[in-house]
Amino acid sequence: MFKKILIANRGEIACRVIKTARKMGIATVAVYSDADRDAVHVEMADEAVHIGPAAASESYLVADKIIAACKQTGAEAVHPGYGFLSERASFCEALEKQGIIFIGPKPKAIVAMGDKIESKKFANEARVNTVPGFLDIITDPTHAEKIAGEIGYPVMIKASAGGGGKGMRIAWNKSEVRDGFERATSEARNSFGDDRVFIEKFIVDPRHIEIQVLADAYRNCIYLGERECSVQRRNQKVVEEAPSPFLDEKTRKAMGEQAVALAKAVDYQSAGTVEFIVDKDRNFYFLEMNTRLQVEHPVTELITGIDLVEQMIRIAAGEKLAIKQADVRLNGWAVESRLYAEDPYRNFLPSIGRLTRYRPPAEGPVGKAIIRNDTGVTEGSEISMFYDPMVAKLCTWAPTRLEAIDAMADALDTFVVDGIEHNIPFLATLMQHPRWREGRLSTGFIAEEFPEGFKAISPTPDDRDILAAIALSVELVRKERLDRLSDRLRPHTGKIRAEWEVRIGDDYVPVTIRKSTAKPPVKIDLSLHGGEVVTIRSDWQPGDAVWDGYVDERAIKAQLRPVLNGMRIDWKGMSVIGHAMQKHVAALEKLMPVKLPPDTSNMLLCPMPGLIVSINVTEGQEVKAGETLAIVEAMKMENVLRADRDLTVSAINAKQGDSLAVDAVIMEFV
Ligand code: ADP
Ligand code: ADP
Ligand code: MG
Repeated sequence: MFKKILIANRGEIACRVIKTARKMGIATVAVYSDADRDAVHVEMADEAVHIGPAAASESYLVADKIIAACKQTGAEAVHPGYGFLSERASFCEALEKQGIIFIGPKPKAIVAMGDKIESKKFANEARVNTVPGFLDIITDPTHAEKIAGEIGYPVMIKASAGGGGKGMRIAWNKSEVRDGFERATSEARNSFGDDRVFIEKFIVDPRHIEIQVLADAYRNCIYLGERECSVQRRNQKVVEEAPSPFLDEKTRKAMGEQAVALAKAVDYQSAGTVEFIVDKDRNFYFLEMNTRLQVEHPVTELITGIDLVEQMIRIAAGEKLAIKQADVRLNGWAVESRLYAEDPYRNFLPSIGRLTRYRPPAEGPVGKAIIRNDTGVTEGSEISMFYDPMVAKLCTWAPTRLEAIDAMADALDTFVVDGIEHNIPFLATLMQHPRWREGRLSTGFIAEEFPEGFKAISPTPDDRDILAAIALSVELVRKERLDRLSDRLRPHTGKIRAEWEVRIGDDYVPVTIRKSTAKPPVKIDLSLHGGEVVTIRSDWQPGDAVWDGYVDERAIKAQLRPVLNGMRIDWKGMSVIGHAMQKHVAALEKLMPVKLPPDTSNMLLCPMPGLIVSINVTEGQEVKAGETLAIVEAMKMENVLRADRDLTVSAINAKQGDSLAVDAVIMEFV
């Protein structure tokens, strides 16, 4: 076994690998860029080597710097994680030349599978079902149009070197093919430094189901069941689960065996994933093989009890697979939510900044469930624009699917993140979504269910009452404490009257307090809308971000954040402003004029911090709805900003190459 390994990655996956190495008694070396000096992975590793500036192309992607770090520290092997150098055959070869072991497959398998065009050709030969399409490079828009016509619409234009859902466009007609070709090519060039694209049939309403394989150097290869990753936004996975609620034993076995056949055909060794899309009749088609550890590998670990990183390390060290196919048992259900630094209320635009608060739920057993949180950040960490916007992977395991989903919903309700925008409200909403809960999924699920983008769930009247009860209990605790702290004279202490009104969003909920102990833990008997008595219990104290308590017998976990005149309450995908007032105060508040936000309808605002790639119009120009106004690049994605109606440009305030802040005015209209 190795004595020391280097992890050529950062963030959660570097931390993940270090954990297993430590468990196996292997010393670890981290590498870091300027932006990651204080990163968690650097702190966790036994040693750390600085490898250059923040830009990945000058640090994490430079093979020579990784090799130099191995030599400097005496690391015998390198785990590449995912992304970065994990699928670069040239990197493995360079390591091999120096006598350093790559913890992953051999270069030959990476070459065969790392490129989508090549891997499809290979899969065809290995008699694996593939998506119908054109297996060569598309040279120009006219060529693209011709090929698309032959395949039949809709089609998908894909970067051969693609990954992470980037460099991919659907086209339903000729003009979309031309546009899609340009965009896919340019995105591929920017993200992967390789602009080759190809075209295949777009399978309508498929599910994404992938098989985890594990193979050693002695041609032993097994599959560890499947993961379903159909909950995607823009072809990027958001929530994954294992097993899939859609597969029967027969299809699972057929997919597993094809995956193993493909792996064997390329002499695969290490952990790998064969991705398929599956149509509603359970026909499955090979998409690609990822020759690395997958982001969503924890769900497989949770249902099989197998540590995939440990297996990768053992295989790389030349050990034989100790697990036989018959030993693989799928136990219970696991769900993973990817927490991204993005603003769900603003079309999921990337968000950067410092984590002023980061309090994940505690890992370990909770009732029948188990919580696991793979993360590479801590309170105070910075989410920068240089790397992937994933903050954490929250996983839950439970005996059944619905128990795992409910455990996830609870875990999300108590996961506190401040300082950046993040998608927890969206994930929390998904966990309540009936289609998700029933497992009626397709990769179009999010686009279909959230066609207008994401809006927080509005509370039902029952929810509103619960939110009002929480807001009132918080107000009582605060009032009680204020009285104690300020040492006021008796006649001036706040007298708590019985009649209240709680504003929840735009509505007022009348509440009468029957009996209360406002010193934590509080116990308050109250009546909502003059109805029956409800009992609130909680040990919430000022400063706690999570309100954990009971409304009658119902357990509630909600998040509170103080705002001007009240508090924001986040609960199960709902996000409302709550303000508990004594009745006479509410009467006055209702007389206050409402301040309206400024009118920005005649401006094009920069939707995210980013770089202007192009301004596509000139001052005075008339544009039609749908025409491109400007292109902004952020996080390596090109975002086309289009006119939402017919407009005339009156002023342009930015030019190509400008780096703009969110909400900067790019241009104005008359
Ligand atoms: P998975 O199938 O494991 O979810 P993805 O395809 O979503 O993997 O990609 C995993 C991660 O690696 C993502 O965070 C993505 O941004 C990154 N990634 C994938 N391919 C590349 C690549 N070629 N270059 C850089 N980063 C990549
Ligand atoms: P990446 O390397 O970015 O992960 P994939 O080829 O694995 O690229 O595709 C990512 C996702 O895009 C799939 O999970 C699926 O939702 C969608 N997709 C890819 N190809 C097709 C296709 N031919 N038809 C329908 N959906 C597709
Ligand atoms: Mg993929």
